[in-house]
Amino acid sequence: MPEEVDLFVIGAGSGGVRAARISAGYGARVVIAEEYRVGGTCVIRGCVPKKLLVYASRFADEFEDAAGYGWTLSELKFDWPTLIANKDREIARIEAVYIANLERAKVKIVRSRAVLLDPHTVKLTATGETVRAKHILIATGGGPHRGADIAGIDHAISSNEAFHLPELPKRILIQGGGYIALEFATIFNGLGSDVTVVYRGDNILRGFDDDVRKHLRTELEKRAIKIITKATVDGIEKIDHGLCVELTDHEAIVVDEVMFATGRRPNIAGLGLEEIGVKMGTTGGVAVDEFSQTSIPHIYAVGDVTNRINLTPVAIREGHAFADSVFGGKPTRVDHADVPTAVFSEPEVGVIGLTEAEACRTLAKVDIYKSTFRPMKATLSGRDTRTLMKLVVDGHTGRVVGAHIVGADAGEMIQLIGVAVKMKATKADFDATMALHPTAAEELVTMREKAATHVRQAAE
Ligand SMILES: Cc1cc2nc3c(=O)[nH]c(=O)nc-3n(C[C@H](O)[C@H](O)[C@H](O)COP(=O)(O)OP(=O)(O)OC[C@H]3O[C@@H](n4cnc5c(N)ncnc54)[C@H](O)[C@@H]3O)c2cc1C
Repeated sequence: MPEEVDLFVIGAGSGGVRAARISAGYGARVVIAEEYRVGGTCVIRGCVPKKLLVYASRFADEFEDAAGYGWTLSELKFDWPTLIANKDREIARIEAVYIANLERAKVKIVRSRAVLLDPHTVKLTATGETVRAKHILIATGGGPHRGADIAGIDHAISSNEAFHLPELPKRILIQGGGYIALEFATIFNGLGSDVTVVYRGDNILRGFDDDVRKHLRTELEKRAIKIITKATVDGIEKIDHGLCVELTDHEAIVVDEVMFATGRRPNIAGLGLEEIGVKMGTTGGVAVDEFSQTSIPHIYAVGDVTNRINLTPVAIREGHAFADSVFGGKPTRVDHADVPTAVFSEPEVGVIGLTEAEACRTLAKVDIYKSTFRPMKATLSGRDTRTLMKLVVDGHTGRVVGAHIVGADAGEMIQLIGVAVKMKATKADFDATMALHPTAAEELVTMREKAATHVRQAAE
């Protein structure tokens, strides 16, 4: 282990790995410490394994829909252990690619928890060794937050354990109304579990456009996912044939698994940050400026530990911008505006930009274009489902400031609409684009009638 390095990165997840590789490419001597597995949350127990389970769960619809298209399928069987083993093999392959890429870039990987002893010294808890570093990058990500310490909390799992259940639960209760809760709800529902979602608020997907929230809830309920709002889990008791879950303002429910997806918290505990004077922000993450620099100039932080926008591509951009700024001589800010995002539920949600309510708060005039329709595939399959597409337009400039889709391939569509939104495309630009027929996406360039116009009254 070198006694002194140019950069010590704590955490080999999305942000840390990118920052380490690019910094080493600029000639920096870099060490990266990882206490669990290289790849971090996204690769090991987040986006990637989640999407693989989503794919698995979606076959159920395909098999059902096939009948209307003339197919007869013989007996269908699903084997959870096969899925989990195949998923784990793929995750191990990606982890190996990450390790190889770091080694090729001459980044030294240490398998240990790392903590700060002073502003320039990192301690590796596995060996007790210390390393001096000119710069330190905190890229420790975040972890599941279980909330209040209710009776029987130890019977509840988080998304971490959901990826490794020994068997598919016949009945599962998921507490939470955010994207992780809803993605797992549709994964388990598609694979055949009986799913109940419990959420303390009025409706699922807080922070999303109200039409998206209503539409998705209706669609999930059509799929027999039970959604109980304005309630929380009050206690969990192990009984003979499962877990009895006590709820506030609702009768108890008996299930085989209880999963909490009640938010995530930055991994800052025990790192020694506050002891050496690194300030925390109002949202509980490490406080940073637009260059990801903390209150101590040579210490930086990127990704979920800063609790800005907790998504993999954002962590990667922040890690890259850090390397460009500090070792590449190119001061680079990350643009956190208009980040496209998806919920890989069934149906899928894809959104970018402002919700109708946000636009009404910030713009003088807002035009809304909206369409709900039966997707073409559902005609022969007979599936009871509808797609929602909505554009939020600045009524004065005509600029499309928000796009919201609930339906098949919404994530894929919103990635591309993201380019148009970033280029400040107007509704007229959308209209000038020829429709591609027959697609669902053509609806986005053929919405002629305004569904609503909101004009803000000038302040008295
Ligand atoms: C179930 C789930 C699904 C998700 N789906 C998506 C998705 O579809 N799309 C998307 O964009 N994002 C998704 N995310 C979010 C995404 O995974 C994170 O935003 C992203 O991984 C953040 O990267 P990061 O580098 O900040 O941290 P992480 O990837 O969390 O990496 C941090 C690493 O630091 C390590 N570490 C922590 N403390 C120490 C220490 N003291 N010493 C050494 N190592 C340490 C951890 O073990 C971890 O490997 C999902 C997350 C979850 C949980």
